[in-house]
Amino acid sequence: MGEKTQNHETHKVIIIGSGPAGLTAAIYAGRAGLEPLVFEGQEPGGQLMTTTDIENYPGFPDGITGSEMMDLFREQAVKFGAKPFFKTVTNVDFSRHPFLIWTDDNTEYHAMSVIIATGASAKYLGLKSEQKLRGYGVSACAICDGFFYKDKEIVVIGGGDTAMEEALFLTHFGKKVTVIHRRDKFRASKIMAERVIKHPKIDIKWDSVVEDILGEQNQQGVTGVRIKNVKTGQTEIIPCSGVFVAIGHKPNSDPFKGQLDMDDAGYIITKPGTTVTSVDGIFACGNVQDKVYRQAVTAAGSGCAAAIDVDRWLNTLEA
Ligand code: NDP
Repeated sequence: MGEKTQNHETHKVIIIGSGPAGLTAAIYAGRAGLEPLVFEGQEPGGQLMTTTDIENYPGFPDGITGSEMMDLFREQAVKFGAKPFFKTVTNVDFSRHPFLIWTDDNTEYHAMSVIIATGASAKYLGLKSEQKLRGYGVSACAICDGFFYKDKEIVVIGGGDTAMEEALFLTHFGKKVTVIHRRDKFRASKIMAERVIKHPKIDIKWDSVVEDILGEQNQQGVTGVRIKNVKTGQTEIIPCSGVFVAIGHKPNSDPFKGQLDMDDAGYIITKPGTTVTSVDGIFACGNVQDKVYRQAVTAAGSGCAAAIDVDRWLNTLEA
């Protein structure tokens, strides 16, 4: 670790996270003259950077890629005075005011208010073999890794929109894609589920759970998955070279544990209809506090609300 440095200035607002929520908060806070610092985190742009075309964000009737959209968000935020930094927040102290924030380069920052927009990350099954074979055929991002499975057999695990999107995207590469879902009905939206069910390259294993991922940490990597039908108890091996886990997300709230009220899954609790957290002056928006809607457009909307809440709160301090 390098030497500790301290940023002596007290910033009006620091925004943690740079997905649709964080960058929309940055646009609004910038336009309100709050000169927000934005700590972008390990994945600048957030989850949309690993998605395919976004077809449901209003204003883009022909769709737009996630990375193009986030570049536009960032450009707009910078235009209004936001300062993005490629830094990750490692620790905070919200028990003191101004609040203290530490980043991965060992710098300490002081802020009058904070907007948390750290989003959520992909969940894994928790199998030992899954952990062992990450990078050897196990992935949670088809956009990042799909290209490696040209003309190969691929498995996708999950039944939500992410699993559908991953499976459809992977048909561009794989010779066959098998979706494994633990129930007999997809959770995904009807339109996405139907595209998957009708796709000639996609096979579906219903009522099935993955018991083990087979393979070694060598050039060949993953060779298959062993699945079990939960209704019949029968096991079966599906040969494949790639396994894409698409079973939902976990909120990125670890640095704030013990400092803010959270639910059992780690989602930050906000006062209904606002972005206000359990600590005055700390606001949360986007997927780190929303397990219901989880859309780019709702995240952006709550980012806007967070910036407005911050501005009003800072005004009460001055009054
Ligand atoms: P979801 O929570 O919607 O779905 C997760 C899926 O994984 C479910 O089918 C669930 O099964 C299954 N699952 C969860 N845990 C396990 C486990 N341990 N073992 C096996 N299966 C498991 O997450 P998504 O990431 O798919 O979607 C999140 C949100 O983002 C949703 O609101 C979705 O609509 C949205 N989204 C929208 C997109 C778009 O519009 N283009 C694209 C991607 C996501 P079960 O159904 O049995 O609970």
